[in-house]
Amino acid sequence: MEDGIYGSNGVLHGKYELGRQLGHGTFAKVYHARNLHTGRNVAMKVVAKEKVIKAGMMEQLKREISVMKMVRHPNIVELHEVMASKSKVYFAMELVKGGELFSKIEKGKLREDVARSYFQQLISAVDFCHSRGVYHRDLKPENLLLDEDGNLKVTDFGLSAFSDHLRQDGLLHTTCGTPAYVAPEVIGKKGYDGAKADIWSCGVILYVLLAGFLPFQDENVVAMYRKIYRGDFRCPPWFSSDARRLITKLLDPNPDCRLTISKIMESSWFKKQVPKNPKFLFEDDLLNPKRKESETLNAFHIISLSEGFDLSPLFEENKRQEKQEIRFATTKPAEVVVSKLETVAKAMKFSVKKSGDESSLRLQGHEIGRKGKLGVAADIWAVAPSLLVVEVKKSSGDTLEYNQFCSKELRPALKDIVWTSGDQSTRL
Ligand code: AMP
Repeated sequence: MEDGIYGSNGVLHGKYELGRQLGHGTFAKVYHARNLHTGRNVAMKVVAKEKVIKAGMMEQLKREISVMKMVRHPNIVELHEVMASKSKVYFAMELVKGGELFSKIEKGKLREDVARSYFQQLISAVDFCHSRGVYHRDLKPENLLLDEDGNLKVTDFGLSAFSDHLRQDGLLHTTCGTPAYVAPEVIGKKGYDGAKADIWSCGVILYVLLAGFLPFQDENVVAMYRKIYRGDFRCPPWFSSDARRLITKLLDPNPDCRLTISKIMESSWFKKQVPKNPKFLFEDDLLNPKRKESETLNAFHIISLSEGFDLSPLFEENKRQEKQEIRFATTKPAEVVVSKLETVAKAMKFSVKKSGDESSLRLQGHEIGRKGKLGVAADIWAVAPSLLVVEVKKSSGDTLEYNQFCSKELRPALKDIVWTSGDQSTRL
């Protein structure tokens, strides 16, 4: 070995036996290592000083050390020990064995409850750091590792900065981070609030977990930055309306309007309980019958698996009506559903507002009823390539007026596009 820190037996610092390489970053290689005194396995991050000095990053490296020593949290990779030789710095860190969260997304988008569980852990870690004046500033799925139990661990504090490194105006001034995950105000170099920038990145991460692809994408980097500046993205139709609402508030290009961590924690999407042992991790597990060998999954199964879905008594008098909700499945394309709803709205002289991707509609009556104007919200999402679920709810106004609207206008208009479970042609 090239440097004095290794003994003649190749043991680092008389203590750590180095094993295989686990990964590498810009300045570092990460190895599996074992503490011969305690028998504990660790991840050893080895950073070449020369590379760091050449890049003028020594201060940053020192910062990384102090940050990691400062933060102790179940969702943050722990730093056990720092050693140095003439040419290298060694970080003995908690070994995280489940790989990168990123590799899971490469296999496909995650189910919403699984994504929620990771997002809750991410926000918990970020909240903890922020409360100690530490901003990560390079949050992206590659920096999110999983332990054996599937718990999230945030790593790579290489680019983080302290609040006491802030300029007089209280804003950070170094442009860093990975473009696709970087907040618009960071690109703008105007100085930014590290907490708000991290929240933006959390928004991008959440989007990627749920979609399986990035919200802001373009082959041309300038065009990508333009999209980021404008907050120009679309949610795919399978995002639930709560997820859509949360992401839209996280990816607000104006940092002053962006949600704070406490508001994220109060949001209905975030607060929802995560089932202890989710049966299927990926959406595809539900959609790809091959993964469940003995059972052929049909669309009815898929929907029944989703929490709160009750499709069998479609459009019959049931509990759903008490809840003033209509849910039905259709094999027709989204445009057909949208146009049906628009026709009803037109006949009733209701106004219609559509989301950019036409996956949610808001119908609004003009007449002032017993409890103000009647408002109806319809959300459409795909549970399989050829199967959509439509959910219609009263968003404002009087229940009786809404029920009448449903029975006289909405149900008859939608009747011929409703798919019923008896229709075996929709078997997946
Ligand atoms: P980093 O330089 O921190 O971005 O690390 C580069 C890669 O090494 C990561 O993406 C992981 O694949 C791996 N790695 C980093 N830290 C650990 C750790 N504590 N346990 C296991 N693998 C790690």
